[in-house]
Amino acid sequence: MPLFRRTSALLSGIPLLPALFVAAILLSSLAIQLKIEDVHEGEKTLLDQNRKIARIVYNLVFFQKSVRQALLERLEAAPGSSGRPEMSDLDGQKAALFRETSAVLDGVPQAKLPFSRTIVSELSLNFALFRKDLVSSRPAPSTDLRFHYRALEESILSLHLATQTALFGIERSRIALMNTQMRLWNTQFGAVLVLGLLTIGVEFLRERKKNEQKLWDLTYRDQVTGLSNENLFRDRIDSFIRLMAPETRLFGLLAIGIDGFKRINSAYGHGAGDAVLTKLAMRLGAEAGEGNLLVRGEGDAFLIMVTDSDSVEELYRRAGRIRERCSAPVEHGGHQIALSLSVGISCFPENGTQADILVERAKSALSTAKEKEGEHPVWLFDPALAARTFETMELAQSIRRGIQREEFVLYFQPIVDLARDKAHLAEVLVRWNHPEKGLVPPSTFIPVAESNGTIVDLGSWILEAACRQGRIWHDKGFDLSLSVNASTRQIRQPGFLDHVRKVLEETGFSPRNLVIEITESTMIAEWETSLRVTQELDRMGIALSIDDFGTGYSSLSYLNRLPIHHLKIDKSFVDDLEDNDRSREVVKGIIILSHALNILTVTEGVEHEEQRNILRGLGADFIQGYFYSRPLPAPIFETFMEEFNGNGTLHA
Ligand code: C2E
Ligand code: MG
Ligand code: MG
Repeated sequence: MPLFRRTSALLSGIPLLPALFVAAILLSSLAIQLKIEDVHEGEKTLLDQNRKIARIVYNLVFFQKSVRQALLERLEAAPGSSGRPEMSDLDGQKAALFRETSAVLDGVPQAKLPFSRTIVSELSLNFALFRKDLVSSRPAPSTDLRFHYRALEESILSLHLATQTALFGIERSRIALMNTQMRLWNTQFGAVLVLGLLTIGVEFLRERKKNEQKLWDLTYRDQVTGLSNENLFRDRIDSFIRLMAPETRLFGLLAIGIDGFKRINSAYGHGAGDAVLTKLAMRLGAEAGEGNLLVRGEGDAFLIMVTDSDSVEELYRRAGRIRERCSAPVEHGGHQIALSLSVGISCFPENGTQADILVERAKSALSTAKEKEGEHPVWLFDPALAARTFETMELAQSIRRGIQREEFVLYFQPIVDLARDKAHLAEVLVRWNHPEKGLVPPSTFIPVAESNGTIVDLGSWILEAACRQGRIWHDKGFDLSLSVNASTRQIRQPGFLDHVRKVLEETGFSPRNLVIEITESTMIAEWETSLRVTQELDRMGIALSIDDFGTGYSSLSYLNRLPIHHLKIDKSFVDDLEDNDRSREVVKGIIILSHALNILTVTEGVEHEEQRNILRGLGADFIQGYFYSRPLPAPIFETFMEEFNGNGTLHA
């Protein structure tokens, strides 16, 4: 069937709709042509007949000449002479004429004749009468002869006229028909031409589109897996970088490769290699996460652009998860082909700010991971970054362990009421009593706990431990409120408020004695959440304190929109309070503004008496700093309180 196949292949290339149009036009044109031919045939016969009749009439005109000649001869003949003209010629002519006429007339139906048959009969009769007068031995008077001649002449004339009119009519309708035909041809030709052009145009566009698609596929699509390829990947990365700058968030590229892919190809064949790639593409697609672009790289590599990880460490863990979940054996041709994957990671902006560089670095990290043969199946491009990440990851793990083993302890730093010179408020500050490293300050682990989410568990523990301690002191009779720090991630947690309620309930610590500190930057970055959480805390009777005021955007507009009780002026303002008039003016301004809004100020980091005196002069309400005391463990803090407050420590 090669011919059939070739024909169908040829036909399949023809666009269906225009082809149908052309066929319809050709068919209708054929029908019209047949109709025209039909009419044409009829007209042609009619014309033929009438031409014959016309020839007869033409002969008649000659005949009439002879008749007239005969008449003249007769009239000019000398009176008395017989003067009979020779009639045999005329009779012969007439006989031939009438024979021919009858032959034509007999073949034509009456309805189609341009004149009635009686005209011919009349003609014959008039000739007979004329001849009789002419050849009679007793010649008729010339008036009769003339009369019969005129009658004969009129018969001939009317026959002539009728024939001419009919001929003219036929010619006219023929011309009209030809015009119609011409117009029809023109219209058809135009329609076919337009359709032809349209078809060519449509075909051209289709072809171009097909070529464009082919070109796009060749440029951007991988033929084996159907995924986009590296070219598209690089384009997308560059536009992503352009679009998100200058925000410059972190994102990562994962280069995922199959360990020993060549071995799979040589052991099971290239079909198996393709099957493994296709299967892996599907698995990676399911694991990559929504919005993260997955493409096929060169050889056995796949690339994923991960834009929804908050930290390098999370990216690293994510890569490990993807690797694990996609490594199940692939079944092909009755074989279970074992799959082992390696992953290389590069990070924006640490490892580069251009697609090409980031892709190359992710691939180079992949090569390192492969070289390490299972020792480090996930590898970060930048060794320093890798070291830091591993450290951070270890730290994250040990924070979790630390919470379980109760390695964290709370320290308390008094916040002194300047007007009364008493401390009935203290900030709760966490410390890590690490089994090997000793007492670790929060600046080293709080940011890590923030970035990997362990702050949620740690924060819960701190709040609970603080309230428990608060309740103990309350039971001992101390008049003391505690100011507990809450991190951004903590307040963003949907269960945060419920947890606060539960802790207060379980420990029996009064919400009136609890202050929650939220940093100014958290407040602004998480505006909606802060608004909701702080309003609810306020309803519960818990005071809100804005920490590190003056270090962030210091957008003052939020101050009167939130239920704020304390505003903590950052240590940086206090540091040069003694030498810098401007700092003094700024602090003075903050205090005046706070008082106008019914907010109390807590100035942090007061180390010298001079600073304390200046602040007192500026109308500051509370002071916290080494000048009074460093953060202290609970038992020592208790002693401090007793000494510092004297009788005022206990409830009245
Ligand atoms: P912060 O909340 O602003 O805490 C005040 C920090 O200033 C404390 O540092 C405190 O020891 C220190 N400080 C107080 N007075 C002075 C002073 O006169 N001079 C100097 N140089 N420093 C002073 P610390 O305890 O190292 O805490 C650092 C930061 O770690 C805190 O800043 C807070 O942001 C965070 N942090 C501490 N404990 C917790 C906690 O329980 N939860 C959360 N989420 N964050 C905490
Ligand atoms: Mg604080
Ligand atoms: Mg602070």
